[in-house]
Parts: sequence; C-alpha cells; structure tokens
Amino acid sequence: MGLIVQKFGGSSVANAERVLNVASIVTDTYKSGNDVVVVVSAQGDTTDDLIAKAAEINPNASKREMDMLLTAGEQISISLLAMAIESLGFPSVSLLGWQAGFKTTSSYGTARIKKVESERIRAELDKKNIVIVAGFQGINKYEDMTTLGRGGSDTSAVAIAAAMNADKCQIFTDVEGVYTADPRKVENARKLKEINYDEMLELATLGAQVLNNRSVEMAKKYSVELEVLSSLVRKPGTIVKEVANMEKMLISGVAKDKDILRISLVGVPDEPGIAFKVFSRLAAKNINVDIILQSVGRDGKKDITFTVGSASSKEAVALMEEFIASHGGEKVISDDKVAKVSIVGAGMETHAGVAAKMFEALYEAQVNIQMISTSEIKTSVLINVDDADKAVSAIHNEFFK
Ligand code: ASP
Ligand code: MG
Repeated sequence: MGLIVQKFGGSSVANAERVLNVASIVTDTYKSGNDVVVVVSAQGDTTDDLIAKAAEINPNASKREMDMLLTAGEQISISLLAMAIESLGFPSVSLLGWQAGFKTTSSYGTARIKKVESERIRAELDKKNIVIVAGFQGINKYEDMTTLGRGGSDTSAVAIAAAMNADKCQIFTDVEGVYTADPRKVENARKLKEINYDEMLELATLGAQVLNNRSVEMAKKYSVELEVLSSLVRKPGTIVKEVANMEKMLISGVAKDKDILRISLVGVPDEPGIAFKVFSRLAAKNINVDIILQSVGRDGKKDITFTVGSASSKEAVALMEEFIASHGGEKVISDDKVAKVSIVGAGMETHAGVAAKMFEALYEAQVNIQMISTSEIKTSVLINVDDADKAVSAIHNEFFK
C-alpha cells in the first residue's frame, strides 16, 4: 500500500485497445489498495502529427503557439484514459499540467519544471480518485502553457514522484526494460535487473531510447527509484537506482549513435588559445561537442578533430569555415558516415583492461577505430557507420558471451 506513480508512453496509449489495457493495469494497482497517479504522453505519433500540421500553416510559428498546440496531444490521452477507467467502474479525474500544479520556467518548448505544487493531486487522491496527469507540460509565470521538450513525460512522472515522495515510479513503455544492447539488433542481448543512475544516464544520453535523460538526472537528484517495464507483458522490468554493481558485470550495456558528424580543422596555427577559440565559438551557439582529438604540432601547424550531433552539423561546419577564414588554417573536412559505439559500466572504475577488451573485439571484427574517448564509466569509439552493427555485436559478444 502506498503512492505509486505510473507513466505510459505514446505507444502504450496509441489506440482504444491500448488505452483500455492501460486502464486495466492502473485499476489493478488501485485495487491492491494503492493511491495511483498516472502520467501519460500523447497517443502514438500525435506530437509529430501536430508539428507537421503547424508546419503546413506556418513553418516559423512562435514557440508559444507551438506549445499551445502540442499540449493538446496529452489533453486527448488523459481524457480518454479517464473515460476508460470510468468504464471499468473506478473513480478517476484527469488533470492538465497546470491543474496538477506544474510550474515551469518561461522558455516555451524547452521549459524546465520549477516545482510541482501537488495540493490538487493530493486532494483528488484523498477523494479516492485515480489521478491522471498530462505529461510534458506545465504553466509559466505568464500563465501560458509550456512544454518540457520532446520525451518530457518521463520527467513529469519523476517530478510528481519526487514532489509527493512516492513509493514507486514505474515507467511503462513498449520494451521490457533496459537491455545490454538493442534487442532488435543483437540476438543475445539481455534485460538488466538493475542499473544505477549514472550508467542509465550515459545510456540515455547515448541514444538508448528507453528513458529521457533529464528524467534520469532528476531521479538521481531526488533518489527516486524507477522501474522501466512493458505495458504489454506483465513482467518485472529493470530497476534504476543507486546500486553497487550488484550483478558483478564489467559493463552494463553497449550503445550506438549514428546521428553524428566528424569535423576536422586541418593545418590550424600551433599556438596557445586555438582550442579555446574553436570550442568557445561552438559553445556560444550551444553546440555540444563530444569526442575531441588534437594532433601534435608540426611545422607550426596542427589539426583539431571533434564530433557534434547531426542536428547541429550545418551550423558547426559554418562556424569552423569562419574560424579558418579569420584565424588561418588549410581547410575544414567533415564526415557524416560515422557512428559512435560505446560501452557503459560502473565496473570500469575498478577493473583494468575493460577498454582493451573492447578494442580487441573491434580488432577481431576488423573494425578500424577513428577516435576514442573515455570517462570513468564509459568508453566510446568513433568508427565507420557501415561497421556499426557489426561492432556492437562483436563487443557485446566479448563481454556477454
Ligand atoms: N508527447 C511528447 C513527445 O512526443 C512527450 C512525450 O512523449 O514524452 O515528445
Ligand atoms: Mg510521444
């Protein structure tokens, strides 16, 4: 008995049958004597469809009006779910973000949750209602609706769990949990029982699409234990919490990211301040740089190579062309036929040779490494995109034979 927050993603509520399925999961939880708060995303591809609709009318629509539009997606799913629960004979109430007390910063489209004033939710629970809250949205100081950025419903759920000190926060999705590699691509990928916040954060950031990374950050900050599980099969999923490498695994997963561009500045002056000038230009435009490599200077010149996400590739290349025009250098070369493959695991901090094992697997698969970067719990390599799937399988095999 306790307070349970359950979040259902767009695919879990995609059609009438799925909405009714969610209603049965939720009411089962309620029947066991729990207070239940449910957070839902918009149905299926609703958010993408709304964005497309807006683009037909005004491709440069203001962010305020975009948020007014996009928040409607979740309004549909909360009301439908409430109706489904009603049809099963249970009391429920649906609430938009502002009704549920979500106060956010003012930045439309990328708002951050400042606090959840949970009195209304509490009052509804006290009336024995199952409370259904629209994910991904809140209200700012101008009393306008805001959205939290794509995939923001996970964060809405964690924020409620944190604000109300919930006993459990379950994130239901269309996969059964967090896997050691993409189970659709890697045959013997297996589901993890547990994973710690930092590992999950790395995997989420690397594009393993089970959880939004901001939600993991927030869960860590407020020690909200998460469970990632499927809404389609009733089985335990993966628990995300502060855990001391319980499964004694060297690594917890292998991830791949293809949305990447490699940029090289060739023959820039070998003098102090060049790296600063290059990367501060990118930072000023909010472009995140990932792997960085600088060559040793020769004849007063050096090369700097780095990677950026595909979304900022055009802007980054343009900035670097400008840099060479004003500071000297031979040329800018870019290549989007690259992929980043990474291993993540808290076991790396205490075990030597983990990276070497990864490189050995790549050697055996005859995959050439272009760049390498490491952190305490992650090693990433940049390789040719055509080798990406082969590399993931080879590395996964090496660690999870
Ligand atoms: N419906 C929103 C989106 O598609 C929020 C979410 O799914 O979490 O990004
Ligand atoms: Mg969605």
